[in-house]
Order: sequence, then C-alpha cells, then structure tokens
Amino acid sequence: DAMAEIALYPDGNGYALKSALAARLDVGLDQIVLGNGSNDVLDLVARAFLAPGTSAVYSRHAFAVYPLATQAAGAIGIEAPAKDFGHDLDAMLARVKSHTRVVWIANPNNPTGTLLDNGALHAALAALSRTEAVVVLDEAYVEYMDPARRAPSLQWLEEFPNLILTRTFSKAYGLAGLRIGYAACRPEVADLLNRVRQPFNVNSLALAAATAALDDAEFLDRTKRLNDDGMAQFTEGFRGLGLEWIPSAGNFVAVRVAPGGDAGPVFQALLRKGVIVRPVANYAMPEYLRVSIGLPEQNARCLAALGEILGAK
Ligand SMILES: *Cc1c(COP(=O)(O)O)cnc(C)c1O
Repeated sequence: DAMAEIALYPDGNGYALKSALAARLDVGLDQIVLGNGSNDVLDLVARAFLAPGTSAVYSRHAFAVYPLATQAAGAIGIEAPAKDFGHDLDAMLARVKSHTRVVWIANPNNPTGTLLDNGALHAALAALSRTEAVVVLDEAYVEYMDPARRAPSLQWLEEFPNLILTRTFSKAYGLAGLRIGYAACRPEVADLLNRVRQPFNVNSLALAAATAALDDAEFLDRTKRLNDDGMAQFTEGFRGLGLEWIPSAGNFVAVRVAPGGDAGPVFQALLRKGVIVRPVANYAMPEYLRVSIGLPEQNARCLAALGEILGAK
C-alpha cells in the first residue's frame, strides 16, 4: 500500500508510527524522535548537545559510532577503560568533566555483547543526572533479551530528565535496509533533537514497515528463539574447538580465535571459504572475531570452516 504513495513526501512527524510506539512504550507522542536508523538519532544527539569546547564520554570497545559522532561535532572524545570488555561505569563517571555534555552507554554493547547490571546502571544514571550531560542508553539489541533481564529503562525516563533511550528496527525486527530507529526521552529533550532533525529524515516505506512490524509479535518471538538457539549452537561449537568467547546478550558473539596473536589471518581464511565475519581490531580486540548469529545451517558452516582453519594451523 505504501508503495503506491512514494511520489509523495513521507509524514515528517511520523504520526502513525509514533502513535503506535507511544502506546507500546507507554510514553507520550512528544517523547519519541524518529531517525533514519538509530545511527541517525545518535547523530542528532551529537549535533544537539556537542560542539567544540565540550566533551563526550564512552567506553573502550564501545560501539564505534560514539567516537565518530563526537568527533564530527567537533567535541572532545573521552574514552574510559573497560572492565572484562564491558563498560566500567565507575571509570566512566570518574571521567565526566564540567564540559561533558554526552555520556554514551551501549547495553548490550556491540561488538562485545556485554550487558550491565541493572542496579549498577541505575546508580550510574542517578549520579549522571546530577551532571550537565545527557546520557544515551543505546538499546539496539533489547528485543533479544528475556524480558526479566531487561533494564526498566522506560520507567527511568520519569526519574532522569537527562536520559535518552535509543532503539532500532534494524536488528530483531529485521528492517536494517529500510533504515529506521528512534529515541525515547523527555519532551524537552525530544524538542531539542527535533530542531536539528531533517524534516523528512525517515522514508515512507520505513514508516509503514516499522508500524506493521510493531504488531508482528510472532516474528519477534521466532527471531528471539532463533537467536537463542544459534547462540547455544555457537557457544557449544566454540567449546568443542577450545575457543574462549565473551558471553553476549546480542545477536552476535565475539570469539577469541587468536590468543596472544592477530585474528586477521583467520578472518581472511574464513573469507576464502565464503564465510564473512567481523574483524574487531579497530575496537582494540585484535585476538577476536565477531560472529553474527545466522540460520542453523549458516552457523554450522561457520563453525566447520573455523574448525578446518584452526585445525590446519
Ligand atoms: C546496529 C547498532 C545501532 C544502529 O543501528 P541502526 O541500523 O542505525 O538503527 C546502534 N547501536 C548499536 C550498539 C548497534 O549495534
């Protein structure tokens, strides 16, 4: 149906999708900001709150867009050391300066899959609510988690006026190619983000597809089950190969294929066997490869290829 209308501009306010999201998340329509992927929303945050003379704090091994968006806004990036590859919230708090305007937190994080303890996260948000910074809590993978494990982050919006949640339709909803994500935050913050947003940043097909996808609970269930099973398949396979991995709450897992060395040659060898994974040396994790969970036969093929390559060394 939406295809018949592509000669027209999209709804710049995204009314139908925002209404559906507001009802689903139990927030006001004026608390949602739509983006061309949540990547776009991260960029809106950087443009609204960062400028030369300000800074943003993020963790080592955190999602690469945080330093990029920070740098593109001309602000100073402050990297805190990690703890067991995850965010060290105390180390991040200790690095917040009077000029810090954004703190970036990925939960779970990409590419490590690490998840924060909800109590520790709440305590850090409370401390950060007393600073001059907004906090981006990036929940791109939240739909893959068991509901009992998820942080009650939407409730935290009432407690912390400087909190910005970001989520996406790219991962569990399977709409990455259409580019659509969103922020949920306080109306005053949404207003600031909307001021720097291009009026037609989200296309009409993405709006229609995301609105429909929100109602497709069965697809989401199936995706989560497929991911849980695939994660078990990979971790069992890694155990069989004698490989360490970082326990992941996402739809990927970082596996240590080259202890003390460089995972690059293993990546290249996998490529030659038609298996594409992600080297993460640019995330300061040269010994690791990040593997996305696929269909059972794809996972099996990846594990078999890894076995051949590592066995042949
Ligand atoms: C994939 C990802 C995003 C953004 O994805 P979009 O496709 O732009 O919505 C944001 N944060 C993290 C941590 C991600 O892994």
